[in-house]
Amino acid sequence: MNSEKWFELAKTFTPGGVHSPVRSFKGLHTTPRFIKKAKGAYLYDVDGKDYLDFCMSFGPLIIGHRDKDVQKAIKKALKNGWTYGASEPYSVELAEYIVSRIKAIDQIRFTSSGTEAVMTAIRLARGFTGKRKIVKFNGCYHGHMDSMLIKAGSGLAGTATASSNGVTEETSKNTLVCELNDLNALEDIFKNNDDIAAVFIEPLPANNGLLVQDKEYLKSVQELCKKNGTLLVFDEVISGFRIAFGGMSEITGIEPDLITYGKIIGGGMPVGACAGKKEIMEKLAPIGDVYQAGTLSANPVAMVAGLTSLKKLNDQAYLNLKENTQNIVQLFSDWFNDNGFSDYQTKSYGSLFWSAPNALDVKSLAEIPSNLNERFFDLFKTLLNKGIYLAPNAYEVSFVSLAHDKKVQKELKRRLWN
Ligand SMILES: *Cc1c(COP(=O)(O)O)cnc(C)c1O
Repeated sequence: MNSEKWFELAKTFTPGGVHSPVRSFKGLHTTPRFIKKAKGAYLYDVDGKDYLDFCMSFGPLIIGHRDKDVQKAIKKALKNGWTYGASEPYSVELAEYIVSRIKAIDQIRFTSSGTEAVMTAIRLARGFTGKRKIVKFNGCYHGHMDSMLIKAGSGLAGTATASSNGVTEETSKNTLVCELNDLNALEDIFKNNDDIAAVFIEPLPANNGLLVQDKEYLKSVQELCKKNGTLLVFDEVISGFRIAFGGMSEITGIEPDLITYGKIIGGGMPVGACAGKKEIMEKLAPIGDVYQAGTLSANPVAMVAGLTSLKKLNDQAYLNLKENTQNIVQLFSDWFNDNGFSDYQTKSYGSLFWSAPNALDVKSLAEIPSNLNERFFDLFKTLLNKGIYLAPNAYEVSFVSLAHDKKVQKELKRRLWN
């Protein structure tokens, strides 16, 4: 059965045929490819085609698809069982490995997704501060819980409305939205609201283009939080373990009150985490009065996949990731220039990159045109036909892994100009 037929069948049994909307290739005028297996930097679909993957499951696979060591570790863990609903050593090992390497955190609590990690951080921040409101930034994504499906509204600085049907006004009233890279706007929000529990930010916003922020700006955000008795939460679900082992917190030297993780932390298995200073983390049940739980939290197989992946991320790995990315960015830039996308720029940071007109300069969502997908579908389809798989949306960044090595780069060059 080919992708088209699978998609028809999928649409019968699942809304839009997918279990996460961006997978549907909406607006791209082509059928989503049904992937049957993957290895290294390659995806293989049911139609018998292979693709050089630059989506990499949207981030978790920093060492590549189906890494041999991770596969072996998973198989070994499976021999013993795959969920115990009881204390086990696997999560202790992963927690110790992470906490002992990241200066900003003393303790960590595992969840099953990034969304749950952020949800935990929100409740914890409220419980710890006794305050009610949270601030997020326009263009940052923090998962799909009600209180974060909020976009900037018109009117007073910070006012916001739900970005999804089904989110109540009572909920959206308690989330304020600020523009990135605009300290005055954040100051205004603090002036007008005295009950802000936490400011949530992706310290490297990578869910609506790649909106690299200045370190000084991030430091000022932290100062404002401190001055106002508000917690600062770095959402490092993408940047954690990717930009450096300790993510943007390590790069900037900023120690936020809480950090959320996801994606890479589970090595491709469903894991998220909320981490931070002991004093705050111990507000969580069973010690504290902020409830948080999960039947499959710290799933032993996922813990082992995460630990095996993280152990591969040594200093050399980060150098390799950077080199792979720079070479790949150069190839794409050259190809854009020669093939009708000469106004495209490619911005990279660590092992992330993003291509769009004026990509190099933008620092806030407001600076990105809202019609990027109108041309992107043409680019996406052209590359897909060449066997190159980008994330299926113009606002999504591309992910490079350790598997995108010299050999893959040579193959990318061949495919681009073929
Ligand atoms: C992906 C992402 C999330 C949500 O994680 P899920 O595992 O999809 O629930 C939260 N925050 C950021 C920054 C993300 O990139």
